[in-house]
Amino acid sequence: MVKKLRVGWFSFTCGEDSTIVFSELLNDHYFDWIKLIDFKYIKILKSKNVLDKLDVAFVEGAISNDKDEKFLKDIRKKSKKVVAIGSCACNGMPSAQRNDFDKKTVNEINFLLKKFRHKKKVLPLNKIIKVDELVNGCPMQEKVFLKVLNDLLIEFGVINA
Ligand code: SF4
Repeated sequence: MVKKLRVGWFSFTCGEDSTIVFSELLNDHYFDWIKLIDFKYIKILKSKNVLDKLDVAFVEGAISNDKDEKFLKDIRKKSKKVVAIGSCACNGMPSAQRNDFDKKTVNEINFLLKKFRHKKKVLPLNKIIKVDELVNGCPMQEKVFLKVLNDLLIEFGVINA
C-alpha cells in the first residue's frame, strides 16, 4: 500500500484566515496532495472527523480557554509533529491583543471572560505544548507552508528528496 501522510488541520482562536489560504491552495494542489496525504481531521473538507494517530497536526490560532487547551494537549499526544500555522499560533498576536489591555479595559471585559470561560491571558501554542515547526505570517506565508509540508512528506518517507 502507498504510504500517505496522516494529517490534521485545526483552528483555535483566530480569524481562520490561514485556513482560507489553505483552502485556496487546494485549488492548485488538491489532486496532487490527495495521492500523498490522508486528511484524517479537517473540518473544512469533512463533516465527520475523529482525532486519532496523526503524523502531522497543523494548528492555527491562539489558545484562549481551558477547553481548547485540553484539546490542544490531546492533539499533541496523538501527533508525531505539530506545526503552528500563522502568527496567532506562533506568538499569540493579534488574537492575544487583550493581554495588553489596561486595567480599566480588563475590568470592562471581565464579565465576558467569565461568561465564556476564557483564560486570563491568550496564549500561543508553545506556551502549552512543544511545537516542532512554525509557519509565521498573518495569514500564514504560503511559500513557507509549502516548504514545511514538502519537508514533512520527505521526512515521513512519502516522497523522495
Ligand atoms: S495569524 Fe492573522 S490571519 Fe491568522 S488567524 Fe491570526 S489574525 Fe488571522
